[in-house]
Amino acid sequence: MKKIVILGSTGSIGVNALSVIKEFQEKFRVVGLSGFSNLSLLSKQIAEFKPEFVALPNLKDAAALKNKFKKTIFFSGTDNLVKLTETADYDILVAAVVGAVGLPPVISGLKRGKRIAIANKEPLVIAGKLLRNLAKTNRAEIIPVDSEHSAVFQCLKNENKQGVENILLTASGGPFFSKKIDFKKVTPEQALAHPNWSMGKKITIDSATMMNKGLEVIEARWLFDIPPENIKVIIHPQSVIHSMVEFKDGSTIAQMGTADMKLPIQYALAFPERLKNSFPKLNLIEREKLTFFKPDMNKFRCLKLAYQAIKTGGLAPAVLNAANEIAVNLFLNKKIGFNQIPDIVENKLNNFKNAANPSLEEIMNTDYKIRFELNNI
Ligand code: NAD
Ligand code: MG
Repeated sequence: MKKIVILGSTGSIGVNALSVIKEFQEKFRVVGLSGFSNLSLLSKQIAEFKPEFVALPNLKDAAALKNKFKKTIFFSGTDNLVKLTETADYDILVAAVVGAVGLPPVISGLKRGKRIAIANKEPLVIAGKLLRNLAKTNRAEIIPVDSEHSAVFQCLKNENKQGVENILLTASGGPFFSKKIDFKKVTPEQALAHPNWSMGKKITIDSATMMNKGLEVIEARWLFDIPPENIKVIIHPQSVIHSMVEFKDGSTIAQMGTADMKLPIQYALAFPERLKNSFPKLNLIEREKLTFFKPDMNKFRCLKLAYQAIKTGGLAPAVLNAANEIAVNLFLNKKIGFNQIPDIVENKLNNFKNAANPSLEEIMNTDYKIRFELNNI
């Protein structure tokens, strides 16, 4: 029986992770959950999964839930997530909050030598090198949940890294890939209408700008220790192939499946086992043809900016990520246009003080500085 803590259990990944755990009740047990603003869902989850620990930032909310669930231990305040990951006795941490806020609890899990099933890509983007080193020194595991990275992880499982030519990350292209559309006029509603995947708001906007794929290039760079020039993006609108690896001998290995995050979540929890489940399966006969295209970096400037950030290195990915997190929020709140997201990111990326091998403190300071500057415009 593996004991699981889920950070961000009320989100899209969190809910899917709980579905996987429900499917394999004899294998996995929930010992910790974390929420943010959706108290009614968190309350239902506590009633159903009976975790020993729950984290949520707001003190009053935590007190109200404590009244209802007397046996549960609640953590609140700004460091609620870290209190949870430091206290609970668990085997696997499902990191599924959105944004750089997930970095400290991931570090805490790695320091305790745990398996981190990581969906929360932003910590890997801003501090991937540090996280990889922490995993190594503490004999912890980082198993990707992001579907592309789960695919690459599976393709590389029995391979020697020396034989890898390129990683090919597939991208659906989002809602605007094939459309002639004026980015100045795009509304949040239009950008939130993803063709294939149902996900949280931030990642859905990132998919529309293709920043999501840019963040995934940086994520892959650190997860698999492959230079950025060997990580390519290929548009594949059907989202059947979740990514591929090209080898030096001319072979390409691909991983396929339905567009359902339960698959990579299950893989990260059960690895190296493959467990039989009742989820819908891919039927290739019923699929239309699979197509592939080159991404248009001039239309999707965020993708180009992400390559620029990883090539610049140091603090540049942290700058890119923080500027993007704020810009996406401003867009969702109708304060800026869709076309201004790359403008804001580019401006910050061209005006910051870099450091070659930044410490965690330097990364956090940069993240804070960019957020402070942008929230004050
Ligand atoms: P979501 O918005 O649906 O859920 C986010 C979760 O984080 C919620 O439980 C929310 O309560 C919590 N949260 C938000 N802000 C918080 C804060 N400041 N402090 C503590 N908790 C906070 O997002 P999602 O779609 O589930 O994505 C989660 C992460 O997984 C993201 O980093 C995303 O890029 C990544 N991811 C998601 C998918 C997907 O299919 N949804 C796929 C690949 C990767
Ligand atoms: Mg992905």
